[in-house]
Amino acid sequence: MENEEDNIFWVKIDGEKRLATINLVPGNQVYKEKLVKIKDEEFRAWDPFRSKLAAAIMNGLESLPIVRKSRVLYLGVSTGTTASHVSDIVGPSGIVFCVEHASRVARDFLDRVASFRSNIVPILQDARQPKEYFSVYGTVDVVYVDIAQPDQTEIAILNCKTYLKKGGYLMLVIKTRSIDVTQEPAQIIRNEIKKLGPNFEMVQEINLDPYEKDHGMAIARYVG
Ligand code: SAM
Repeated sequence: MENEEDNIFWVKIDGEKRLATINLVPGNQVYKEKLVKIKDEEFRAWDPFRSKLAAAIMNGLESLPIVRKSRVLYLGVSTGTTASHVSDIVGPSGIVFCVEHASRVARDFLDRVASFRSNIVPILQDARQPKEYFSVYGTVDVVYVDIAQPDQTEIAILNCKTYLKKGGYLMLVIKTRSIDVTQEPAQIIRNEIKKLGPNFEMVQEINLDPYEKDHGMAIARYVG
């Protein structure tokens, strides 16, 4: 096992080196992931075929801006597969504000994830209306966006302007097919990055293939 500074780990599970996080809620599984106990810690395997953030790490993410104690605004949490690992990484002194507008998946997220994790604040709202998130206080270190909407970049910018601290990071999942089916994926990613404009400095762009087809991730620093 190798201890990474940013609170993500590589552990041997069934003879295979797997990405993992330390389980904030020992014994609790979120998506039937493997749990392994090593010394006093329980690790949760993090599946890159189920989580785009894990896919980005597998595909060479240079530096993960989400670390212990981070404050994260997560848009499009769905049933919480990725958010649960973000909750493990930031630990008990961090906080993850989780926005989801579909009440059916939000219910599942509450039952399976948020109700067990004290560092998660669920927010049932439309990400197009960030001023309506009454439970977000102060600024955040990272805005993570995975909402698969044609105007996802505009929504991301609006949320950053409302909550991201200067020098903080935007992590934007770009679902290339949800924007324009007639354009080349690489071109779509470039166009979305261009839309971020002068308030952001590009840090890295990552293709998530083969874990997630037709997806990329852009990481940018908010210069305000
Ligand atoms: N991030 C999740 C994960 O890795 O486990 C998967 C997210 S899924 C691709 C996209 C989610 O964004 C859906 O659950 C959808 O309901 C939500 N969503 C789409 N548009 C939204 C909006 N305007 N406001 C809030 N949530 C939205």
